[in-house]
Amino acid sequence: MPPSSLKTRERLSEVRYEIRGELARRARELEAQGRTLIKLNIGNPGAFGFRAPEHLQRAIADHIADTDPYTHQQGLPEAREAIAAFHKQRGTPNATAERVFIGNGVSELIDLSLRALLNPGDEVLLPSPDYPLWSAATILNDGRPVYYRCLPENGFLPDPDEIEALVSSRTRAIVLINPNNPTGANYPRELLERIVAIAARHGLLLLCDEIYDSVLYDGATFEPIAPLAGEVPCLSFGGLSKVHRACGWRVGWAMLSGDPLQVGDFHHAMDLLGALRLCANVPGQFAVEAALHGPNTIDALCAPGGRLYEARRAVIESVAASRYLELVEPAGALYAFPAVTGAAAEGFDDHRFALELLETENVLVVPGSSFNVAFRNHFRVTLLPQPDELREVFRRIERVLERHAEL
Ligand code: PLP
Repeated sequence: MPPSSLKTRERLSEVRYEIRGELARRARELEAQGRTLIKLNIGNPGAFGFRAPEHLQRAIADHIADTDPYTHQQGLPEAREAIAAFHKQRGTPNATAERVFIGNGVSELIDLSLRALLNPGDEVLLPSPDYPLWSAATILNDGRPVYYRCLPENGFLPDPDEIEALVSSRTRAIVLINPNNPTGANYPRELLERIVAIAARHGLLLLCDEIYDSVLYDGATFEPIAPLAGEVPCLSFGGLSKVHRACGWRVGWAMLSGDPLQVGDFHHAMDLLGALRLCANVPGQFAVEAALHGPNTIDALCAPGGRLYEARRAVIESVAASRYLELVEPAGALYAFPAVTGAAAEGFDDHRFALELLETENVLVVPGSSFNVAFRNHFRVTLLPQPDELREVFRRIERVLERHAEL
């Protein structure tokens, strides 16, 4: 008998991560053929010339001789103390180092927290659009994503009444991404308070992905949820990848807050799953204290004249000049999520558009439906290229949309 090919996990067929999917693979093929592309698919600051701040690099270099051993599964004590102190300053109740979990990026902790929480068939309330790892990790830990909508006509903010209407006897958690990837929405305090009240009424865990917490534009202010959540069990995620431009160091953290009685065994479950993978990357952990308690290096990039601010301005102005695009201006994070409208929207398919843009104009974007939305007329770009390069990108996008409109 001929050997049969290996079977893989069935639920993988439900999982998508198109940020690095088929289009990215096609882009690599084109590059191998000698094409020069502008790739806007990944929020990877280092790939666009951003560097991690020097005082963070120095903190690692100064400790490189101390980085050989495994650390405690929850992370290096000094780094956990620094994260707890950062949360205490924000007003997070009972923020102690014992309640901090450090992982290989927020990515690992997203998976770990859902693995600690879910039993087969449990439901997780997720934003639509979402950052697709949240859906993938829910599915691969035997859960069921249930989406609440964040619609452009509401500034991509969720409707708490809709969230509450989706709660069932199987619901275990509400996921929030704030500031949001892919939309750039920044959630106001009153909205967060209403979501906290829902979690309290139904005994749900709040999972708050706050990895973009200091990437804010035009006077937007960030509201951390943990201080509002009080006794309600809450995991707040942060990390070095975005605010500190150190994606490759693979350092993220989760701060557990809430009444210990309500948190119950969840703390132990996280600790046990952390122990099974031994510890997170050690060198990067030595930069955490410098990142959270050293000089601020992100505000200048997000202020007028700063590179991210000017990139965002280039996108906003390009969309305003377009005959076919609309944009809810991002208040935070590293992305814009424009909509195709008018004559170009007729019969528009975001995947076909993204492929055509890549093949004919050498620009790689992510189709909006990759972020688990029902509509197919959006796409995501990162704000990481130079402003002039973004203006050029939107000139090329306009050319493709022009052709669509004429069809
Ligand atoms: N959460 C969100 C919303 C993200 O956008 C990303 C990365 O793009 C992550 C988590 C993962 O970050 P990390 O590099 O810490 O794994």
